[in-house]
Amino acid sequence: NQGIAQVDPEIAAVLDGELARQRDTLEMIASENFVPRAVLEAQGSVLTNKYAEGYPGKRYYGGCEQVDIAETLAIQRVKALYGAEHANVQPHSGATANAAVLHALINKGDKILGLELAHGGHLTHGMKINFSGRLYEVAAYGVDPETHLVDMDKVRETALAERPDVIIGGWSAYPRHLDFAAFRSIADEVGAKLWVDMAHFAGLVAAGLHPNPVEHADVVSSTVHKTIGGPRSGFILSREEYAKKIDSAVFPGQQGGPLMHVVAAKAVAFKIAASEEFAERQHRVLRGAKIIADRLTAADVTEAGVSVLTGGTDVHLVLVDLRHSDLDGQQAEDLLHAVGITVNRNAVPFDPRPPRVTSGLRIGTPALAARGFGDEEFTEVADIIAEALKAGAATDVESLKARVDKLTGDFPLYPGLQQY
Ligand code: PLP
Repeated sequence: NQGIAQVDPEIAAVLDGELARQRDTLEMIASENFVPRAVLEAQGSVLTNKYAEGYPGKRYYGGCEQVDIAETLAIQRVKALYGAEHANVQPHSGATANAAVLHALINKGDKILGLELAHGGHLTHGMKINFSGRLYEVAAYGVDPETHLVDMDKVRETALAERPDVIIGGWSAYPRHLDFAAFRSIADEVGAKLWVDMAHFAGLVAAGLHPNPVEHADVVSSTVHKTIGGPRSGFILSREEYAKKIDSAVFPGQQGGPLMHVVAAKAVAFKIAASEEFAERQHRVLRGAKIIADRLTAADVTEAGVSVLTGGTDVHLVLVDLRHSDLDGQQAEDLLHAVGITVNRNAVPFDPRPPRVTSGLRIGTPALAARGFGDEEFTEVADIIAEALKAGAATDVESLKARVDKLTGDFPLYPGLQQY
């Protein structure tokens, strides 16, 4: 009955070290967030001990009466949140959710059409060495070379030429809304099913601040840990006609026993996502991203060769274009890391630099909004980033780091939480 500090001091030290890292830096990776204490508690609970293959009321194991309640709550809450006819809350991750979606909708060798990986698409939307690229034939649409926007006329042209069985709307790095109604009409025209992967923007949809793909798509998949700010995991929403296929594609098609501690944590996250406070937080997410985009498109920054793809953002992230900057993506990521800001380098469409280096940064605001940041703090963060990207190698790292320390000190993360 000993705790982790006694059983495994090395891992206890990692937990302590990671809490300190999260507290002392500004987390701006667009796909990350800070889960509420209630989610941490559900996920670190005795539910991890339970096997529950099957679905509520139809399990292959005894003793599922408590976990059935948790999973039923998660299903009811997420259906209500997005207005969906059916929900499966068992996927262990976004990638396994996506594997199950394709497994349910099409057969090996059928064709998928998604956003080019190098233009902001995801690995599971048809990357060559991913399951999606190995099991299915892949066609892709890209963004316009000038505007960097998805042009729906081009998507239609590609769909008519390629005749895919599934069209995918969704992205990992794209700063604008997609036109789901146009995707629907193209899918209908070519006889394809429409799958939207809302992994990134699901929290904005829940708050009513982004168009809801559930109104248009046959199937919608998502992660829970990005803008929703729940446990690391996935879920699938669908029209009723796909319910059975989706459920059997998840279990037994893709997975064995669901992670019931994570399913319970999802239920908590979905409850929170229906609250006023959550909607207010998502407002701050969007405002923060706009403040950063505005600062990084100001004249003093563009003079240094730095700009923002599409000239701004409608979502929780900003894509910084460094193609004309002295800094490449790796150098910019390292520089911001030295200042205490964590971001990830990201290829820009038509990137002249190799994928390990890149000419871009992806900067997101969800985690800082969860920490409590509003306009004033995001303005300061935007200015710190602008100063670093302008100065490059000549950056006064110490003085910018001091400004970061002030922000992290003013907005303590998980106040009172002790690890070990
Ligand atoms: N779908 C999209 C659009 C994503 O951006 C991601 C994560 O980066 C995923 C799916 C996969 O999620 P996970 O990392 O949980 O497998």
